[in-house]
Amino acid sequence: MNKKLLILPLFALIAFYACQNKTNRNVDENVEKATGLVSPDFNADSAYAYTKAQVDFGPRIPGTTAHQKCADYLVVKLRTFGAEVSIQGEQTQTYDRKSFQLKNIVAIFNPGQKKRILITAHWDARPFSDQDTDPANHAKPFDAANDGASGVAVILEMARQIQQKQPDVGVDFVLWDLEDYGKANDETPDETTWCLGSQYWAKKANAKGYKALYGINLDMVGGGNAQFTQDEISRQAAPNVVNKVWNIGNEIGYASYFTKIPSGKLVDDHLWMNKAGIPSIDIIHYNDNSGFYINWHTQLDNLANIDKNTLKATGQTVLEVIYREK
Ligand SMILES: [Zn+2]
Repeated sequence: MNKKLLILPLFALIAFYACQNKTNRNVDENVEKATGLVSPDFNADSAYAYTKAQVDFGPRIPGTTAHQKCADYLVVKLRTFGAEVSIQGEQTQTYDRKSFQLKNIVAIFNPGQKKRILITAHWDARPFSDQDTDPANHAKPFDAANDGASGVAVILEMARQIQQKQPDVGVDFVLWDLEDYGKANDETPDETTWCLGSQYWAKKANAKGYKALYGINLDMVGGGNAQFTQDEISRQAAPNVVNKVWNIGNEIGYASYFTKIPSGKLVDDHLWMNKAGIPSIDIIHYNDNSGFYINWHTQLDNLANIDKNTLKATGQTVLEVIYREK
């Protein structure tokens, strides 16, 4: 995921650290507030285990064995949960003129239902930690525990719950490949170098006339002290969906995560979901002042920095959104 401009003034960072202490959350309090849910209980331990399972393959960089093995794992897992699963893609060139076999993983629940919701996350890992504070690390891969694995893990846990109790709507999960291989630090970034999987999917979806009521993309939904702001593309393309999701998040006890603060334009997979005609939003750890998740595209985006509370806040909120649809 890329932001058009990421200039992080030092004072913003200091302010960010300063307020972290003030926003320590009490999970039990959140759980107590979450009464009257129509959705099944989202299990954060399970989502954490799915995050770890992906990280354990090594960085899921296109063209590597870890990428291949993780794709196989995700397909098997989603089939085990009762979804119709397929892999979609073609040979795809990245901005640095390398070529990879793109693998979007599509999992369909309740295919006969016309009313559908699309839930997505990227499963690939960025090959370089170019935001690391140490320039010596910039060319190195990183675990991508949050930036990739967390969103996929939340989807796997939702799929497990759906198998046990079917919602009224059909659900399509798409795990994007080649989201995070984009060109960074460019004064005039080319947004088409990012999100190659969702760009491919959008072409196919347009050709097939794919329909869903709306789409929700999950990106970096497992970091500590996460704050999900309302980005410009989401607000403009799908204001009702933004309101629905943020209102439910607030109602069931996760107001500190789903903050009703507007933020700027973020290039992420929801851009292409919207171009396919599905009103779509992004749930992403980002704030205009503090930027992305603190360990974004660094060596520290690892399992030790995954917070189950954030997985829970995200997963329970999205599950509740799904189960309230009639
Ligand atoms: Zn990223």
